[in-house]
Amino acid sequence: MNRIIQTTCPYCGVGCGISANVDEQQHRLIISGDITHPANFGRLCSKGSALGETIQLTNRLLQPRVYGRETSWTDALDVVADTFSKVIAEHGQDAVAFYGSGQLLTEDYYVANKLMKGFIGSGNMDTNSRLCMSSSVAGHKRAFGSDTVPNCYEDYEHAELIILIGSNAAWCHPVSFQRIRAAKEANPALKIVVIDPRRTASCDIADLHLPLASGSDAWLFNGLLSYLYNHNALDLNYIQAHTEGFGSALGNINHGYSIEQVAEHCQLSVQDVQRFYDWFTTTNKVLSLYSQGINQSSSGSDKVNAIINCHLATGRIGKIGSGPFSLTGQPNAMGGREVGGLSHQLAAHIEFSDADTVARFWNAPNITREAGLPAVALFDAIHEGNIKAVWIMGTNPVVSLPNADKIKQALQRCEFVVVSDCIADTDTTALAHVLLPAQGWSEKDGTVTNSERRISRQRALLQPAGNAQPDWWIITQIAHRMGFAAAFNYQSPVDIFREHAALSGFENNGQRDFDISALADMSATDYEQFQPTQWPINTQYPQGRARFFADGQFFTPSGKAQFIAVTPRPPVNAPTADYPLILNTGRLRDQWHTMTRTALAAKLNRHKPEPFIDIHPADAEQYGVSANSLAMLESEWGSMIARVQITDNQTEDNVFVPMHWTAQYASHGRMGALVNPEVDPISKQPESKHTPVRIKPYTPLWQGFILSRHEIQLTEADYWIKSKLDGFYRYELAGNTLPDNWHESINSKLDTPAQWQEYRDSAKGIYRTARLVNKQLDTVISIAPNHHLAERNWLSSLFAKTELTKAEHKALLTGKPPLGGADVGAIICACFNVGEKTIKAAIKEHGFTTHQQIGQCLKAGTNCGSCVPELKALL
Ligand code: SF4
Repeated sequence: MNRIIQTTCPYCGVGCGISANVDEQQHRLIISGDITHPANFGRLCSKGSALGETIQLTNRLLQPRVYGRETSWTDALDVVADTFSKVIAEHGQDAVAFYGSGQLLTEDYYVANKLMKGFIGSGNMDTNSRLCMSSSVAGHKRAFGSDTVPNCYEDYEHAELIILIGSNAAWCHPVSFQRIRAAKEANPALKIVVIDPRRTASCDIADLHLPLASGSDAWLFNGLLSYLYNHNALDLNYIQAHTEGFGSALGNINHGYSIEQVAEHCQLSVQDVQRFYDWFTTTNKVLSLYSQGINQSSSGSDKVNAIINCHLATGRIGKIGSGPFSLTGQPNAMGGREVGGLSHQLAAHIEFSDADTVARFWNAPNITREAGLPAVALFDAIHEGNIKAVWIMGTNPVVSLPNADKIKQALQRCEFVVVSDCIADTDTTALAHVLLPAQGWSEKDGTVTNSERRISRQRALLQPAGNAQPDWWIITQIAHRMGFAAAFNYQSPVDIFREHAALSGFENNGQRDFDISALADMSATDYEQFQPTQWPINTQYPQGRARFFADGQFFTPSGKAQFIAVTPRPPVNAPTADYPLILNTGRLRDQWHTMTRTALAAKLNRHKPEPFIDIHPADAEQYGVSANSLAMLESEWGSMIARVQITDNQTEDNVFVPMHWTAQYASHGRMGALVNPEVDPISKQPESKHTPVRIKPYTPLWQGFILSRHEIQLTEADYWIKSKLDGFYRYELAGNTLPDNWHESINSKLDTPAQWQEYRDSAKGIYRTARLVNKQLDTVISIAPNHHLAERNWLSSLFAKTELTKAEHKALLTGKPPLGGADVGAIICACFNVGEKTIKAAIKEHGFTTHQQIGQCLKAGTNCGSCVPELKALL
């Protein structure tokens, strides 16, 4: 009998609740949104909706491996504990490190941090949240004295002006974006401003888009503060009663911030800046949502404070519908911050200066009193040989860290690399000496915290695959073997959660924002039934608290918020004659991080099956790259090859590439190889949004694709992309050496013999071949001297057919549908597999003018809504 279990999505920081219909026997999940969860009220985006497709065993790590050999847990744990102990004995505790992930559950994070900082006695525990949120953490701490997100999602419905700054929420936080869209539809007076160098899908609902120059945000917000001052729009009573440092922040913007000067710095029109400032000045309820476009910068902390300054100056913080609101990238970035996942945090929002408090609570006299190395410096230390043993937990730094080729080299040089992950083959697991199989989403059990401080349960739905174990268990087993058994005597996640909750209240007395001490004695049943609640959860707020700072009380020594005088700085690496373009990186609508999970779901690979470079038409012309051709991007640090998309959504002199592709899915698609390793001096967050690059055409001898029901190990191509689609794989290829006979070459890799049909035009360099097995299309190959190849979308649609018609069979090698045949075009709606050509035809035939009409006719856009901006663009 099926069971319905409430859990939480493992992807972005929206933290949507999921209602999973679990068929244990069939190992199947039917996923729907949890209508009771306050983060999403039943809505899911395309990624969340497709979770059921990702629970397969493909590429799961099922058994511990030590130096490539499968072994028992006992053996693997002994090797890890012995080696870490030996390195510490010989080289000291700072010769080892942990590198965690926003994918870890709070309980996992808690014990990892406790082991490294409390008992090994080193600060070298950092996390991939460093790449995502640390500038927000720094900005919060400087302004509020604590890492506090003041707002909640309900504010979307109350705000009168919502500003999206460096945030493509339509693709990166889709359910929040849909909620904002709904708020605007319910209240057309709600104004939306999008501040982003790119015109993204989020601009679909924008009343104003400010395509500012990359990195110029602090000028814009300093200018806003100056404007508020000059237009008597300050809340002087609030400034006087609840803040400090306004004078010096104001002194910093005395000169150089006229609207004309701001417009010039930011490369915006004076009218647009004026309009934005007017709206901010005259609107009471203003919500500033910001994300990686602000954080991933060498001045990210200052940008965060420049935004917060404007809210403090107008008293628009802690009030319904108002405040600065950082959108977190990962599902448990916030939980990681709560337990000290970052190397400069201790635990429970306790600073290293109060290490004695934690030492008393943990009974850990060996606790470190100093911050450890942040991510980029930590991998530099591995590269230099100062860190000799590293344990990477649930993340893929060889892809995601900047200067990623150096990261790869660092791990190749490292004496001892442990990776605990649920996936067997990643760019990082390939370099591990020990692999520890961790439970994945749907198997593990614990808590996560979303962007609005809401703690939710992530519950086990299915039996773990193979011999996979929970991360907390793996870490505590190592702790036992290293001699710390008494401090790590946990039997289940609730034991850890209770301790975490108790620490949050320990010697707190209202001094620290993070306090969930009301949960310190919770029973296992209460933990099991725990309903999503926003912290703090303590005596004063037993049911949680929606907003902080309504009372004007902050966590600074004086209790007052701090203005930070911000002097804007340009990005560290400016474009040069050699590298004249600025590379921006970011997420796609249907993929998550390094694709280890999302690439398993065919429907998520339809939207963008290949890495691409978005480039403005003028730049494309200048640098000689044409639409759909291949091009190489090069920076001082590395290179990648991707497909060119020419679009005036890009501003001139800027290019954009998606962050997701790895060596598992693309030969040259790792954008991290290009990204410069500069970091913000305060937050140590890397500058992933601004790297000088150059572009040039990549002109191989031939290009092609293979669509096949078989996964093929390709050796024929210099450039390749692999994506899994519905019942078949799609390979995009290019190379400089052409095999004489493709079908023989591929045939030798397929286990079913079959007759090939073949078309060759040697003079033109065109070659097409296909084979049917049991009347079904099995494999089709198309090769040409350039990217003008056969119609992939039509050929792809044939894999769904149990038998090809004669006409289809005949048309196979023409690469075009037979007369009257359907070619759906590039997939726009992943939920219902609706293509661009189908949508365009329906618009033309029926004269549709709204996306709702398209939805009624084709269903496109009626599930998660993520494709609505694209539907509107087609209209
Ligand atoms: Fe998951 Fe999408 Fe919700 Fe993010 S918006 S938590 S990816 S369902």
